[in-house]
Amino acid sequence: MIERLLLGPGPSNVPPESLQALLRPTLGHLDPDFLQVMNRIRERLQLVFRTKNPHTLAVSGTGTAGMEMMLTNLVERGDRVVVVVNGFFGGRGAEMARRLGAEVVEVKAPWGQPIDPAAVEAALAGGRTALLYFVHAETSTGVRNDAAALATVGRRHDALVLMDCVTSLGGLPVDIDGFGVDAAFSGSQKCLGAPCGLAPITFGARALAKIEARKSPMPSIYFDLLWLEKYWGSEKSYHHTAPIQNFFAFEEALRVILDEGLDRRFERHLAAHRALLAGLQAMGFELLPPAANRLPMLNAVVLPAGLDEAALRKRLLLHHGIEIGAGLGELKGKIVRIGLMGRNAQRSTAALFLGAFEESLRALGSAPAGAPGAGVAAAHAAA
Ligand SMILES: *Cc1c(COP(=O)(O)O)cnc(C)c1O
Repeated sequence: MIERLLLGPGPSNVPPESLQALLRPTLGHLDPDFLQVMNRIRERLQLVFRTKNPHTLAVSGTGTAGMEMMLTNLVERGDRVVVVVNGFFGGRGAEMARRLGAEVVEVKAPWGQPIDPAAVEAALAGGRTALLYFVHAETSTGVRNDAAALATVGRRHDALVLMDCVTSLGGLPVDIDGFGVDAAFSGSQKCLGAPCGLAPITFGARALAKIEARKSPMPSIYFDLLWLEKYWGSEKSYHHTAPIQNFFAFEEALRVILDEGLDRRFERHLAAHRALLAGLQAMGFELLPPAANRLPMLNAVVLPAGLDEAALRKRLLLHHGIEIGAGLGELKGKIVRIGLMGRNAQRSTAALFLGAFEESLRALGSAPAGAPGAGVAAAHAAA
């Protein structure tokens, strides 16, 4: 068995309590003990999402399944959908809405920049809009979009507000009810720190009303919220065979999160980010996004021209056992992405990474700025 320190855009390392739960004996998907596990997952997800929405559950599938479930239920052919596109995942949301027959209006910002809510407002004012879709934490660029401001603008124009919070949930304040978000989805393997394979999702009352008023039938059975609720809700009838062990592990991961406390967890992610940033800057590096819109859990580091980023990632992986992420799309070769998610969001982990980073840069003949060890020292000294 090979173990890596997973400092990429996800998955992150899973806490032992959650890993151990994967070894529990299989139960039937309608076993009363298993149904209790589902109930506890629902209650814990409501706390983590900060919502009272009864329609809060974990879709069997990765984050993209959550995206597919949210949009498949809420988009009807011909709906006008305004989509914020300032990175890879916003673009995927736009493409998915188009494939479902929506009239998609993209509001773009350069990759690495946050979206201006005024630009979104202008797009909403351009016609009767059913849905506003945005990514809270754009994992491809390290940019945080202002979720509360975007939700306010969406509601002002009577659009349902849809959010991708795959990377933010569990690492950055997500307040579904406080922001005024109508539906949102996430993924189990990023800041929630659970094994890959489940997608938390929540639908509020306004979203449910649109689903119940659909004129066309839901094109998917697997993602049909009203049908799936017959399994998750009080009826407890078969919809699909839940991935049993994944649910056990997810229940444990959520317990670990709530035992720590959400606010402490957010503070820990910030402290790890500050340590990493201090170290990177001491070594002469900068992050891609402007200071006010940086994600703590995903750091997009701008590389000097000529540095072979594939060789850098290869050395980190094979020599140090550390995985980091490459740039996606137009940022390929120009940035690397360093994730400090879930249990990896530690100042000591940031310092450990910086030491390995420095060694790898020197080995590639690209010694960083500052004295040897300056990055590690700055990370330890960071407040
Ligand atoms: C990872 C990610 C997804 C997709 O999740 P998968 O688990 O890879 O399917 C969607 N949106 C964002 C912002 C992500 O970071």
